[in-house]
Amino acid sequence: MSFKNSHLSSVYETVLKRNANEPEFLQAVEEVLISLEPVVERRPEIEKYGIIERLVEPERLIQFRVPWVDDNGKVQVNRAYRVEFNSAIGPYKGGLRLHSTVTASVIKFLGFEQIFKNALTTLPMGGGKGGSDFDPKGKSDGEIMRFCQSFMTELYRHIGPDTDVPAGDIGVGGREIGFMFGQYKRITNTFTGVLTGKGLPFGGSLFRTEATGYGLCYYAKEMLKNLCNDSFEGKKVVISGSGNVAIYAAKKAIELGAKVIALSDSNGYIYDENGVNIDVVKQIKEVKRGRISEYADKVSCSKYFNDCSKIWTIPCDIALPCATQNELDDNAAKTLIANGVICVAEGANMPCTQAAVLEFLSNKIAFGPGKAANAGGVACSGLEMSQNSMRYSWTFEEVDEKIHNIMKNIFAEGYKASKEYGVAGNMVIGSNIAGFNKVCDAMLAQGIV
Ligand code: NDP
Repeated sequence: MSFKNSHLSSVYETVLKRNANEPEFLQAVEEVLISLEPVVERRPEIEKYGIIERLVEPERLIQFRVPWVDDNGKVQVNRAYRVEFNSAIGPYKGGLRLHSTVTASVIKFLGFEQIFKNALTTLPMGGGKGGSDFDPKGKSDGEIMRFCQSFMTELYRHIGPDTDVPAGDIGVGGREIGFMFGQYKRITNTFTGVLTGKGLPFGGSLFRTEATGYGLCYYAKEMLKNLCNDSFEGKKVVISGSGNVAIYAAKKAIELGAKVIALSDSNGYIYDENGVNIDVVKQIKEVKRGRISEYADKVSCSKYFNDCSKIWTIPCDIALPCATQNELDDNAAKTLIANGVICVAEGANMPCTQAAVLEFLSNKIAFGPGKAANAGGVACSGLEMSQNSMRYSWTFEEVDEKIHNIMKNIFAEGYKASKEYGVAGNMVIGSNIAGFNKVCDAMLAQGIV
């Protein structure tokens, strides 16, 4: 892809040179910068004050070693990161990912996206992200605890409730956040809202578990209503992944009248033409920490297939990619379109390749980018921070209602920007511009820092 705007073109050249070995980061930056072209043309102060140059360079990137001892007494060493990308509108905020594929590039792409996502929520949160190439799969609880404690023994000095507030992401759920919180408390002798996604007895928010998946469906509902004059009622939905986001997206889609016919993990996918039984999925994934293939053993009319990427060959009306980055490419997009998909909303971060996104947009499919569609999780984390500061807690229904309103507002803001810039319904451009304008205004007000 090439830039029409010469300023953006030269900034991107520098980003390319500086980060040549970071494909995911380059992909995220290019996608955002292309959609900002009309704003840069309209607002000359952006170039004058070096807003884009500053935006694409993290304020801080920390890399550290995590030594821990496995159950056989052997010393293991993992590599970990925290990127503190942009603090213009609030303390750095973003999850921690534990997965073998974690690199500086992956963490930087996620941290960069987080800046705009957090701005879209309208809550005061800057952009950050972290994680490690530690793979929690197959590890004992003791090994997970020793890793998390060692990880926090370094990370604690870089974070704080008013500085940087990490949360969960792939491989980091309530168990891991609990171990990390315990170690932070022990080292600093403070009990603060330094992490979100905590357990309910120690400052967690009701609804955090549901927030991203439910929020995704609230956002998709707005897209269906405003862009397709339609709803979830009676629709066939395919969802990739079977982790936190996927499970609660499935639950809400079913509640909204849809039939979820497929789910996956990194090994394969299940197809259930009668509609998946979400209680069975929760039992396998949340209680047993098992594999999605076990669903086919328990539900006789369903089938399991190897190769998770083939999940997009199943004909459906709505597709919700909720597993990982670049899991849906242009061929998969073409197949979905040929099979009649009307709406695609990203539950995961950057699950669709750039070519896939172009396919959806050029075929007028309602497409919701992750930084808008999956912002319900971080919005709930923002509310958890508020509850911790107030030493107060809202009910499940109260948080659900707040997230529902935030997701409606995120859609409305992006839609408004898309119309203002002459690309009505292009939620990629609309959401990027809406998020960017807020961060840009704050950066302009704070001088060259
Ligand atoms: P989980 O760890 O709970 O689940 C991840 C799911 O994705 C698992 O089913 C996993 O399968 C699958 N998966 C992971 N890597 C791959 C891969 N390379 N290929 C195919 N499948 C894969 O994570 P979450 O549900 O929390 O996160 C999913 C996505 O949503 C991520 O992109 C995350 O950044 C994003 N997100 C999450 C938020 C949250 O609140 N949790 C908030 C906003 C975005 P397996 O078990 O086989 O690895």
